[in-house]
Amino acid sequence: MAYLNDEFIDKVRDNNDIIDVISDYTNLEKAGKNYKALCPFHDERTPSFMVNPEKQLYHCFGCGVGGNVFNFMMDIENLDFIEAVEILAQRIGLSLPERKDSSTGESTTKSEIYEIHNWAVKFFNYLLTETNQGSEAYEYLRQRGIKEETIDQFELGYAPDSWRGLFDFLRKKGYSADRIQQAGLIIPQKKGKGYYDRFRNRIIFTINNLRGQAIGFGGRVVDDSHPKYLNSPQTPVFNKKNILYGLARAKREIKRSGSVVIVEGYTDVITGHQFGIENIVASLGTSLTKSQARLLRRYADRVYIAYDGDVAGENATLRGFNILKNTGLEVYVVNLPVDQDPDEVIRSQGKEEFELLLSEAVSLIEFKLESLLTDRDLTKIEQKVEAVDDIMPVLAGIENEIKQAEYIKKIAGRLDVETGVIKSRLKKFQQDVSEQDRNYRDRNNKFKSDSKVDSEAESDTQFQFEKKLLELMIKDTQILNLVKAELDSDEFITDEYQSAAELIFDIDNSDWEELINKVNSAEIRQMITEVSLGNYQKEEINEYQLEEAKGYIKKIKEYQLKMKKERLDAEIEQHEASRDFAKVNQLLRERQEVVQLLQDPDSLLGNNFDVGKGGY
Ligand SMILES: [Zn+2]
Repeated sequence: MAYLNDEFIDKVRDNNDIIDVISDYTNLEKAGKNYKALCPFHDERTPSFMVNPEKQLYHCFGCGVGGNVFNFMMDIENLDFIEAVEILAQRIGLSLPERKDSSTGESTTKSEIYEIHNWAVKFFNYLLTETNQGSEAYEYLRQRGIKEETIDQFELGYAPDSWRGLFDFLRKKGYSADRIQQAGLIIPQKKGKGYYDRFRNRIIFTINNLRGQAIGFGGRVVDDSHPKYLNSPQTPVFNKKNILYGLARAKREIKRSGSVVIVEGYTDVITGHQFGIENIVASLGTSLTKSQARLLRRYADRVYIAYDGDVAGENATLRGFNILKNTGLEVYVVNLPVDQDPDEVIRSQGKEEFELLLSEAVSLIEFKLESLLTDRDLTKIEQKVEAVDDIMPVLAGIENEIKQAEYIKKIAGRLDVETGVIKSRLKKFQQDVSEQDRNYRDRNNKFKSDSKVDSEAESDTQFQFEKKLLELMIKDTQILNLVKAELDSDEFITDEYQSAAELIFDIDNSDWEELINKVNSAEIRQMITEVSLGNYQKEEINEYQLEEAKGYIKKIKEYQLKMKKERLDAEIEQHEASRDFAKVNQLLRERQEVVQLLQDPDSLLGNNFDVGKGGY
């Protein structure tokens, strides 16, 4: 690691307080010595993610992740170690050392792609605001009420109506065609060797990551050509499934208010901001993904879906709803006037009117019921029956009985039938479902018992013993000292555990925070943070755990001896074949010793025999 030396890395770590860094991603609340929060790495409703300011470590007691400030950045932003150090250095205004070698590693690729995007933003913005070519696009935006300063703030731009405007510009800045293609900005020609610009004659919306860096673009046509919208493709820095447009700008307000408004379009977000609605983001394309939902869960408790008031918007709403709900968010649907999008509503009626719509937003159940009823002619008997059938899954999904009864009354009223009719249909529906469930379970159980594996492979069990022993070593110094006296680190058969044992054997004064910096294995790191941040007390190490540790030590020694016996058997066979009986006798004596040890497992403790690993 010549580029970033240890001294630099230490400086970056010491000056980035883990509480500050993690606060950008989730709401930390003080809880005794620690801070706690909803885990940004898994879905949960009660906080099990703990951060300790003194030790500068975090650990989630729900999903097990843990580590220091670098590990956090690597996991949450999907970075390698160098990138995490670079970003945290920039965060505290520390300038990065000069790169001596022109390495072509992955992080160089990424940082060049970021640079390319920065240049492209400047290029597009210049064309929009300073040239005749961009005047039509500029007029379009101004007519939609977008102010000059908003154009700059949101880094809006114009891609010229030419085949290689951006390409030539970036080539002149010194970037290779390969790299520009990796950035997703040019497309190779089908015939011939050239390239052409991906975005042509389009209004450009810059898409940023959570840190506000430009990572991709969305382009909207100025005329009637197709497709109306075009996004950057997936690149090493851009995956539209993990990105929400406007989130970098909105996250502070989302966190403060605990709520977020999801819209469909770029201009919905921009207009919202211009009118002071700052907790607003857009999904790129209409179908919301699970990772986008999780991203929102980090900052918000409540989500308002404000998709366009048309059929497509309605379908997208229903899909998005379940995904959001499943991450533990409270979800509401905003009823926009038919055929209007949030942009139009906000511009024509202002912030107050839009906020009124938010306050009148309905729950999923009401929204679903409403949309199931409105599309039908309920004076026709067949349509009525159909509506009732469609409503059943929604009704059955209401867990609260009082609420359910309330809705039954409402629906009966709308359909003009007795509540008893709805109730009996619901009962029938629930019986059918549990019948199906039972059949499914029976089939599954049968399958499981057919393919049941009787015993785990021996080496698998061995990994478990080693893992448990490492856990105990981390928990207690008495056990650690015992293991040090009984085992060499190379008696652990798993490579990962072997190098962990080596590091743990060398630890000074239980300085686990220091050890975290050296451990490469995420599993070991998590064991350390778990013990380090757990409520566990030293007294909890009791006789039982000491005995447990002794048991694992015996198992590890036993395994090594069995391996030795196998090796000896092979040797003996070889020397018998070559009729070297002196050697055979010597090996047989060794084998006898091993067999005796194996017959009396208690003799294994305190007996540092030579396991002769590969020593023949
Ligand atoms: Zn977690």
